[in-house]
Amino acid sequence: MSEGKTITQSMAAPDIAVLTFDTPGKGANVLSQPVLQELAAHLDELEKRDDIAGLIIRSGKPGAFIAGADIREFAAARDITKEQIIEMCAGGRKLFMRLAQMPFVTVAAIDGTCLGGGAELALWCDRRVVTRDRKTQIGFPEVKIGIYPAWGGTVRTPRIAGLANAVELISSGEPADVDKAYKMGLVDDIVAGDRLQEAAVNMVRAEQKTGDYQRDRQRWSGPLSLDDTELNFLAATASAYIQQQTKGQYPAPIAALNVMVGAARLDAEAAGDLESKGMADLFGTPVNRALINVFFLTDHNKKDRGVDDPNVKPREVKSVGVFGAGIMGSGIAAAAVRRGLPVTITDAMPEALQRGVRTILEEVSYDKTKRGPDPKKALDRAPLINATHADAEYADCDLVIEAVVENPEVKTELYRRVEPLLSDEAILASNTSTIPIARLAEGLKRPERFCGIHFFNPVRRMPLVEVIRGPKTSDETVATAVAYAKAIGKSPIVVNDGPGFLVNRLLLPYMNEALELLLDGASIEEVDKAAKKFGMPMGPITLYDVVGMDTALYAGRVMRDAFPDRCVESPLLPAMVEAGRLGQKSGVGFFNYKGGKRGKGVPDPTVQEIIKPLVRQQKEFSTEEIQNRLFLPMVLEATRILEEKIVRDPRDVDLGLIFGTGFPPFKGGLLFWADQLGAAKIIELLKPLESLGPRAKPTPMLLEMAKQGRPFYDHP
Ligand code: NAD
Repeated sequence: MSEGKTITQSMAAPDIAVLTFDTPGKGANVLSQPVLQELAAHLDELEKRDDIAGLIIRSGKPGAFIAGADIREFAAARDITKEQIIEMCAGGRKLFMRLAQMPFVTVAAIDGTCLGGGAELALWCDRRVVTRDRKTQIGFPEVKIGIYPAWGGTVRTPRIAGLANAVELISSGEPADVDKAYKMGLVDDIVAGDRLQEAAVNMVRAEQKTGDYQRDRQRWSGPLSLDDTELNFLAATASAYIQQQTKGQYPAPIAALNVMVGAARLDAEAAGDLESKGMADLFGTPVNRALINVFFLTDHNKKDRGVDDPNVKPREVKSVGVFGAGIMGSGIAAAAVRRGLPVTITDAMPEALQRGVRTILEEVSYDKTKRGPDPKKALDRAPLINATHADAEYADCDLVIEAVVENPEVKTELYRRVEPLLSDEAILASNTSTIPIARLAEGLKRPERFCGIHFFNPVRRMPLVEVIRGPKTSDETVATAVAYAKAIGKSPIVVNDGPGFLVNRLLLPYMNEALELLLDGASIEEVDKAAKKFGMPMGPITLYDVVGMDTALYAGRVMRDAFPDRCVESPLLPAMVEAGRLGQKSGVGFFNYKGGKRGKGVPDPTVQEIIKPLVRQQKEFSTEEIQNRLFLPMVLEATRILEEKIVRDPRDVDLGLIFGTGFPPFKGGLLFWADQLGAAKIIELLKPLESLGPRAKPTPMLLEMAKQGRPFYDHP
């Protein structure tokens, strides 16, 4: 055994060396520069020996091979020169390339996640053996932080698995499970977990005998073998698909495609040089920085338990109760059932309960390959759903989530009935979007066991959950709600009670301003286009149609009552409601949904009959002016939210908007984006909006930040 911080050397047989990666004290192995140096030292030593027939590379961490490069090092290096980027990439690639040049066969023995730099290391080995385990995956998530694999990933993957597979794997950033990886040719053997080392040894012995790896070394160091027609066809179709997916806002996937296509006729060495050079155009760019920020926001969220006291432990939730089987109730129930948790559900209306159960079953039995419900899955899951009209059946639930109509009287009456039936430890939560948790908790016997658990619509797609702490909510309740949300695959943030909580409060100025813009002369198309160009998944006017005009009117009133100084009450919303133009649900709103393809709205000139009489002026707006009006008041609202300590960390504002509204990740989050502008610049941009009054006036916090040159938070 030789000494090393992460890598230890041992022997699997007298002539087979093993390098085991196991960073002490960490859950995952990461390829930091010191680890790469350790690897180089081991290879130097092994290369000189003449008693070695094979080398096995494995992890000492069960279920985790190597998670990738060290993103903290990337973040710290963001200001390096183009030459340094090229050098950094070439250095890693040349080190890994040695695995394909050693005087003996090299085998990666993979159990668990094998991603990014870890996948590159594994691919530079001559052979790969993997465990048959759900956790075992091979993938290149680099595009998700705005770069591509540049330690030879774009060189080696197409040469081993073919160009089409490599493009799919690298440009999508989605990992392949073992069966897919095997089909692609990326792995050579799949074995049971306890047979991994034995299988790797057998692989070495087999290669020793046949010498096949030598032939593959030769083949994979040359150009790709496909003709011009195939190459051009693949390049054109993949490029069109990627453009459509990324809308030109994420440059990495297309850069990865271009570098692989561009290097198809080159040998591996020259392809590697092209890869390093191309990386210099991605690394350290604003998109790369923003996406690295999102990576750290997510990482921070994963580690956050929702409470600061380390002694507080969440209670385990083994069964869930849901009241209300409407849009939200059925989504909330489905999220639990999908994770194998039993759910009791009811509704005041029998037909709503029936519909709800059908929705739950359809959702939990959805099969991606069939693109529809799978009856076998439905049968498997059905016993987990207890649809009932008897409150007593909620007695055993550890967590009860109420998702009935947005009416405080109906909700509190329900609690009065149900709370006495629950165990003393059970948690009661509301999915309300607007009613203060303090108000709902008023008549409760155990307000410390009550909180908001606010899911977003549609539950299956929106990762965000706001856990709302009422004035009396206990730490244990918050920790349990957070742990539960994570257990069902969501990203929870803890927010303090207040009108609109976090996300809806931030959306309000944006939505409000969209209507004001219409009355100031901007067109529906101009407003939506400007927001989409900024990167929002849909424009605010379309969003009104999705939310529903009546719901928006109601939510707007709640906010206006809370913040009368800065909430304008647009006459447009009540006019739309009165005209029956409620949005998608009524077939017409700002757009027309009758007869459009797949429920898509088409422009509807008749809506002008409602807008025109209310228009105050016919101002012309540039895209930037519209964007400033939509997004700067949002930043101002965020400063108020931070002053009021609605969130525990400014990062929660950014994560909340990205996961709750689809705020563009390539902008890094609202506050990250604002920090790129700087407080002083934002104040300057707000000047032309002075006439809008308090809602566009720089807040004390923003003025102070400008004075001190301070950002909202320290970015990685
Ligand atoms: P919905 O109208 O689709 O469903 C509400 C259901 O509650 C109805 O089926 C109704 O019959 C039932 N109900 C009414 N009184 C009841 C009672 N006493 N006991 C049992 N069932 C009762 O509404 P929704 O959109 O699912 O909203 C439910 C809650 O979730 C509301 O508080 C809403 O504010 C909140 N919410 C909604 C959204 C959204 O986008 N729809 C998003 C987040 C939160």
